[in-house]
Amino acid sequence: MSQIKAAVCHSFDEPLRIETVDLRAPNGSEVEVSLGAVAVCHSDIAYAAGAWGGTLPAVYGHEAAGTITDIGASVSGLAIGDRVVVTLIRACGECTSCAAGSPTICETSYNGDHGPLKTAEGGVLHQAMACGAFAEKVVVEQSQVVKITADLQFDAASLLACGVITGIGAVVNAAELRAGQDAVVIGCGGVGLNAIQGARIAGARRIVAVDMTEDKLEIAREFGATDTVLASEGKPWRAAKKAMGRGADAVFVTVGVSAVYDSAPRYLAYGGKVVMVGMPKSGESSTYEPVMMSAVNQGMVGSKMGNVVIKRDIPWMVDLYEQGRLKLDELISGRWRLDQINEAIEDTKTGAARRNVIVFD
Ligand SMILES: [Zn+2]
Ligand SMILES: [Zn+2]
Repeated sequence: MSQIKAAVCHSFDEPLRIETVDLRAPNGSEVEVSLGAVAVCHSDIAYAAGAWGGTLPAVYGHEAAGTITDIGASVSGLAIGDRVVVTLIRACGECTSCAAGSPTICETSYNGDHGPLKTAEGGVLHQAMACGAFAEKVVVEQSQVVKITADLQFDAASLLACGVITGIGAVVNAAELRAGQDAVVIGCGGVGLNAIQGARIAGARRIVAVDMTEDKLEIAREFGATDTVLASEGKPWRAAKKAMGRGADAVFVTVGVSAVYDSAPRYLAYGGKVVMVGMPKSGESSTYEPVMMSAVNQGMVGSKMGNVVIKRDIPWMVDLYEQGRLKLDELISGRWRLDQINEAIEDTKTGAARRNVIVFD
């Protein structure tokens, strides 16, 4: 058992509180990781606002990197002192999804109420997303971590846990975009910028970025967008199609806004598909015209965490970064201490930030 500092959510839509909490030692195939960095993701903010419900009090945070400081008795292939990326992708390895190579949709449920965290008084403290990384340390399953080299800094590495794999994986794994195809990316935040660089890496012909502000479109061009469209213009799909000279083979919706899902199929070419990445609040709905799907082979497909297999995909992304072909440092717009987490969250909410990262000494 160790006592650690964590940012705890006691009621939805209230600031997180920095408290000392209990973290039990790793059992079985679990590892304890002392964090070097954890990024603030829009999913953490949506959870803390109550968008998807869940038990309180809770510790959010799921985009992390650090050093293994303890291991359970049956851990294999990892040792104390290893530097790792920590993800929320807890995969049992035994269910049908895991066996079929889709660990991001593992069917074995996990109840964070019975996880390694407790309040200092011994009460229930929910480990959100099987991670709870807004804290000095986490205890997670070994399936959730991937070893990284000594030269990769923790702040850059933390981004590989969610935003980067979600964006690039949506392009490479979910859309299976081929060289020469055309892509539209709606939303140029942390995930959108990675979908843009994923499309560049995949060899897309045109990559059209769509967002609400010129500032974000400027950043999108730095990440590889060939064309940009302001979403505030009426019918932005018209300008996007004009830029491509046709419709898109794939449209990536990276924002959790139902109204954006309503219009996403309008950007498509015949045979194209909408890849659904952004997560609107539970209970919201969207509409589409089924005749377009059946008449011209268009489709919609969901993509959880970029459909990645972390031990395959994170090492190749690290290699691309080391070759200078993948931008990570440029994604970080601010570095904060754990006790500044509410400021980091407020800055992220403005929509102007790329990724804010909490760093630990
Ligand atoms: Zn995330
Ligand atoms: Zn599974």
